Amino acid sequence: MQPTNPLWHPFADMGAVDGDRMIITRGAGSYVWDDQDRRYFDATASLWYANFGHGREEIADAVAAQLRKLDSYNLFGYYANEPALKLAERVSALAPTPGSKVFLASGGGDVVDTAAKVARAHFFHTGRPEKTHFIGRRLGYHGTHGFGTAIGGLAPNRVGFEPLQEPVSHVPFDDAAALEAEIQRVGAERVAAFFCEPVIGAGGVQLPPPGYIEAVAEICKRHDVLFVADCVIAGFGRLGTWFGIDRWPVQPDMITVAKGITGGTIPLGALIAAPRVAEPFFTGKPGAPILRHGPTYAGHPVACAAANVTLDIYEREGLIARGRELEKPLADVLSGLISHPLVAEVRAGLGFLAAVDLTDDVLEADPGASGKLQRACREEGVLVRPLAKGFAISPPLIADEPELDLLGNAFPRALDRLELS
Ligand code: PMP
Repeated sequence: MQPTNPLWHPFADMGAVDGDRMIITRGAGSYVWDDQDRRYFDATASLWYANFGHGREEIADAVAAQLRKLDSYNLFGYYANEPALKLAERVSALAPTPGSKVFLASGGGDVVDTAAKVARAHFFHTGRPEKTHFIGRRLGYHGTHGFGTAIGGLAPNRVGFEPLQEPVSHVPFDDAAALEAEIQRVGAERVAAFFCEPVIGAGGVQLPPPGYIEAVAEICKRHDVLFVADCVIAGFGRLGTWFGIDRWPVQPDMITVAKGITGGTIPLGALIAAPRVAEPFFTGKPGAPILRHGPTYAGHPVACAAANVTLDIYEREGLIARGRELEKPLADVLSGLISHPLVAEVRAGLGFLAAVDLTDDVLEADPGASGKLQRACREEGVLVRPLAKGFAISPPLIADEPELDLLGNAFPRALDRLELS
């Protein structure tokens, strides 16, 4: 069918979308409503970001006030604005590496690509211009910009876009020794950075094996490879800490965040660069290198105003710690699903996110099964994120125990009502 509305949806089969759009009209707390006024539990916090839920007056007020005071101004050269300065100070003070610098942009993909460019520029300006190679993890996801598409390890997301940014290679997501072997194969003198989600999100909620994060951080350090923790999903409470990577006793060279930094209300991303990475650009000496990079909306005052109020909400309501407090209750509620005949695996227990995989038999018999399961969950009043093998959830951090029970009841019913072809 030819779409009748020109809106082109991301990651969508446009032939199937038209006539089937789910139009979300409003949101409040952990719930959203469609244009038929049906209410749904937002078990995905939209795209892993509505960490404080929807419909916060405080954000609306701060955004409106900022729009009235200074609706926009750029950050290029010596321009600054008060919300951006305040946000950079707050984010830097919270970061695991003291003295970190903060580069602001419009979202996760922006700051992933900023991290890649900063990594190369760092080595270029410190006399090692041959350190250009990036290593990603299979199943990793780092957004849809140029570098992020290349460094991401989800094969279907690369099809049709090649040739992608080079040189890039990928290692298994759960094997620290494989990273070291790859650094040695390429030659440490050529490798700029390793990109790592603490918990892989879009690639299916893949938890790192015990000791993995510490091991890869140590390997990177030993080989002078920058360790980039992509915490776009993991940050702002999803793993029960400010950044996600700070659950482990490691000091990443760079951290990328977005999503939860504004609860998704206004697009914003931040790159947090450890002092040693940023140092060449901050010497203050004449002729010091300039990072010739920056999107138009870097440090947009309205986005930064939303972020500053978001941090207030997290602090006041203790929401950052909730991601950890809720991880076991969520895992407990989902654990029973493993006995369902259609379910192969349930991944949960580290942070407030989880994934459920269907069995290979189901997926072979009906390649559309995960889409059907998404729809079955929706019929049970719960929005989930379809994955290649099943679905993922990452509910708002304000979710309470009755809402977890709601999930525990909805999913078996959705699986039971699945009509496979
Ligand atoms: N990195 C990770 C780990 C992500 O999950 C995402 C988005 N889901 C991105 C980067 C890209 O962020 P954005 O979509 O805001 O560009």
